[in-house]
Amino acid sequence: MWFVKILAVSDQIVDRIYSLVSSGHFQDVELVLGCGDLPYTYLEYIVTVLNKPLYYVPGNHDPMYNPNDIRSKAEGGSNLDLRTVRHKNYLIGGFGGSIRYRPDGTNQYTQKEASRRALQMLPNLIGNTIRHGRALDILIAHSPPFGIHDDTDPAHQGLRALNWLIHTAKPRYVFHGHTHFYRSNIAQNETILDGTRIINVYPYKIVDIP
Ligand SMILES: [Zn+2]
Repeated sequence: MWFVKILAVSDQIVDRIYSLVSSGHFQDVELVLGCGDLPYTYLEYIVTVLNKPLYYVPGNHDPMYNPNDIRSKAEGGSNLDLRTVRHKNYLIGGFGGSIRYRPDGTNQYTQKEASRRALQMLPNLIGNTIRHGRALDILIAHSPPFGIHDDTDPAHQGLRALNWLIHTAKPRYVFHGHTHFYRSNIAQNETILDGTRIINVYPYKIVDIP
């Protein structure tokens, strides 16, 4: 079977990634996905050396996106927040941000605000379905869905909007970050829900997609 190798990164700089990337270790990677809360210089390094497409979404520790401010975006990559793209034969969508836990936090949304944002993706999802017979293959998000890989504390509750997107768009893969596992006993980082493989990327994952 034919596979596409994806390198997904999130939340924490891994020093080993620098050496693996620079030593040519990831030459067979086709696509780089950023799930947020990483310095854009790290994403730019990976994408510059690998010379492969990068799609990413902002996390709650990333700056608010401003098209006129180069510090608010990763050069050489595409911010996919609330957008969808077609890369080769893959339909990829993005949903940035996390649950709001600070009144002044950037890229933070209440459940209601996040749900309204998810609705903004509907025209693209419908357009994909009409054109390609499916809404999405891959969804990249910063937050986990509600009740999946999330936590009960105010900062790490998952977004219900993502459960809705998974249910509506039925992507085959969801990549997310935001929740860090420190104890190996709760280190469940993959869940399959109605045929969607949900993967916690923190701090990086290599996935072969058929
Ligand atoms: Zn986060």
